[in-house]
Amino acid sequence: MPRTLLADPRRVPRFAGVCTFCRVPTIDQVAPENRPLDWIIYGAPFDTGTTYRPGARFGPRSIRDESAYVKPYHLIHDVMVSDVLSIADAGDAPVRAFSCEDNAKVMAEFAAALPDAKSARLFAVGGDHSIALPNLRATWERRGKPKGGLALIHLDSHVDTLDSTNFERYSHASPFIRAAEEGLIDPKRMLTIGIKGPLNSKEDFDYARDHGVTIVTCEQWRAEGAETVRRFIKSLGDAETYVTFDVDVVDPAYAPGTGTPSLGGMTSAEALGLLRSFAGVNVVGGDVVEVLPDRDVSGITALLAAHAMFEIISLDAVRRVRRAQ
Ligand code: MN
Ligand code: MN
Repeated sequence: MPRTLLADPRRVPRFAGVCTFCRVPTIDQVAPENRPLDWIIYGAPFDTGTTYRPGARFGPRSIRDESAYVKPYHLIHDVMVSDVLSIADAGDAPVRAFSCEDNAKVMAEFAAALPDAKSARLFAVGGDHSIALPNLRATWERRGKPKGGLALIHLDSHVDTLDSTNFERYSHASPFIRAAEEGLIDPKRMLTIGIKGPLNSKEDFDYARDHGVTIVTCEQWRAEGAETVRRFIKSLGDAETYVTFDVDVVDPAYAPGTGTPSLGGMTSAEALGLLRSFAGVNVVGGDVVEVLPDRDVSGITALLAAHAMFEIISLDAVRRVRRAQ
């Protein structure tokens, strides 16, 4: 019996019906036998935290649209994700479009109050990267406020640990310094991978370096292959881990629809392969962010974001299947 009831695409085509993430049911549509939920996906249509080109507030709509073609069987992991996990779409979080700090507050309250708090893990679809902070707050709270904070795997061209930029402390440049200060994440169990330049200054790295963040630049990742990543993943053991995916980690040739593009990045195949290499990690929450549909070409960036979401949620399905064996 499938845990997530998806409309049969041979009877109801993927292009028909109300558009939800990956065609999962809305929360109201989930049958009692498929509760409690394992994952709740919601949109976070907010981009006031962006430092350059705005428009990611339209990301959730675009990603819902493109995700209609994401299918539930994971070929590499050999897992039928909809059989293992009960997943629902909770719609969009409320926004405060004129204040990053207020927005983080209302989004966190919304996400923390979503149903099935003991079981349902939260996946936020941005929006700019500032929306990771409220999803981390809600995830941390729903996991029982673990002392020491969650582990974090962060794919991005940018470190996102600046204290402030343009006098704003809650922008998309600062979600992880705020999360660390609030005790939501442990910087010593944080991996930032895909960093590439040019950056504003060498000091952009100060916080991460001084607080024990493992940084793997795009160049290092190419040179050393997956070795540092493998060591980091091994060191996590069963730690509760949040995975955050900024689409600008991927080269703009493959992901042009983003607000702060950075050249020389991964291909989409490399990024999806990297996410698959996290199999075994105890993923308790995640997000995909920074899709800017106005700059997108043929929906390619939104489609990548939809697939990244599927890869991250699939990691939990893989872990459950392995543990049941
Ligand atoms: Mn980012
Ligand atoms: Mn970025």
